[in-house]
Amino acid sequence: MIATVGRRSGRAHYYPEATDAEWNDWRWQFRHRVTTIDELVKLLPIPEGERALRREVLRDFRMGIPPYYLALIDADDPDDPILRQAVPIAEEYAWRDVGDEDPLGEEKYSPVPGITHRYPDRVLMVISNSCAVYCRYCTRKRIMYEDAVPDLEIDRMVDYIARTPAVRDVVISGGDPLTCSTAKLDSILTKLRAVPHLEIVRIGTRVPVSLPQRIDAELCEMLQKHHPLWVNVHFNHPRECTPEAARACDLLSRAGIPLNNQAVLLKGVNDSVETMRGLVHGLMKMRVRPYYVYHCDPVRGSEHMRTTIAKGLEIMEGLRGHTSGLGIPQYVIDAPGGGGKVPVNPDYLLHYDPKKQTAILRNYQGRIFEYQEQVPEEELLRRKLVAERGDPSRHANGDHGNGSNGGNGSNGSNGNGNGHAPAPVIGKSQWAHRGRSRRDAS
Ligand SMILES: *Cc1c(COP(=O)(O)O)cnc(C)c1O
Ligand code: SF4
Repeated sequence: MIATVGRRSGRAHYYPEATDAEWNDWRWQFRHRVTTIDELVKLLPIPEGERALRREVLRDFRMGIPPYYLALIDADDPDDPILRQAVPIAEEYAWRDVGDEDPLGEEKYSPVPGITHRYPDRVLMVISNSCAVYCRYCTRKRIMYEDAVPDLEIDRMVDYIARTPAVRDVVISGGDPLTCSTAKLDSILTKLRAVPHLEIVRIGTRVPVSLPQRIDAELCEMLQKHHPLWVNVHFNHPRECTPEAARACDLLSRAGIPLNNQAVLLKGVNDSVETMRGLVHGLMKMRVRPYYVYHCDPVRGSEHMRTTIAKGLEIMEGLRGHTSGLGIPQYVIDAPGGGGKVPVNPDYLLHYDPKKQTAILRNYQGRIFEYQEQVPEEELLRRKLVAERGDPSRHANGDHGNGSNGGNGSNGSNGNGNGHAPAPVIGKSQWAHRGRSRRDAS
């Protein structure tokens, strides 16, 4: 499942001294996260002249890369897709004043600190201000400067949910909830579960991608006490679909937790049909359902990773029909200032006339089809007349095989418009024309 990377990558290249016990211990991984440029230059070839400005970028947004995730980087490739997600680069410095602190207006829709209540029946809840890896494009980087979320604040969030009966779904999302201790998470989930109107809990986490060692039997045992629980993961590139990540996903799945992926469309990371197809295939092999592909939000310091909507549409076109329908995510753009997620789709319905009840459809190969959603009333009337009086056209041309059985037109070979004289009462119905052209089109 793991794609091949250059020679200069992997644990043996970057961390030859790490023992198996250390490497497989998430606490070791977490403690050894690379957080400064000084540590980074020992591992990756970073030009001398860029070090100062990369340090400068870290004043805006911190860095944190677990050894496991860093080892996915190909040291020979300055444009490596894993590197671009986790390592500040010169472009980030160049664009650092472009964008918003809070592009989605999450603070504006926040009834109590930590909760964003944007949709009628579900809320977003943030219980942690840290992540295993800090993604350079993170929409919520504004909160990643703060200390741990105080327990009192978490109690207020739960209290808001408890006194808001409309909330039936809570999304606990980044800062990564799985950076909390298992005991703390257990206590929060227990409090949420005590809210009678809360139906489902979702956890949004990048830990299976960046620190898969964290997903262990103890965590899964705790999580499965709190069903119905869903986990949304965040894979962006096929190279993140490693055996370690697959193991983490498998453990979660076996705990009865459905896994869905939320990817972000990122320039230089996954902005090609080939990469996205590789990603969705990798996800499906891990039993993870691709859920969303987000257009990258205009958050400060991520302009260099944003691409065009045309690119997003091209990728969606390259998936639909070309691979398993189950592997096709919904492409969404989060509307600025709190408009919520807006689905954006290639046009497959080229034209729709509700009066005539016709549609022009395009399939994944670009072939065009005319479609009749229902038999129009005039045609039904004609059939009724035919049933009552016999088909007038039969008398006109002596064709006994035509029309009297109410040709359904579904294959275009029956009814009017196939070369026989039209029915005098109704005339040549448009429907019959359509029946024919539909056959021509297919
Ligand atoms: C994304 C999001 C949700 C969940 O949206 P779904 O489309 O139901 O997955 C809920 N609240 C906020 C504020 C969000 O940004
Ligand atoms: S894991 Fe999620 S919340 Fe954390 S930095 Fe990355 S995108 Fe942001």
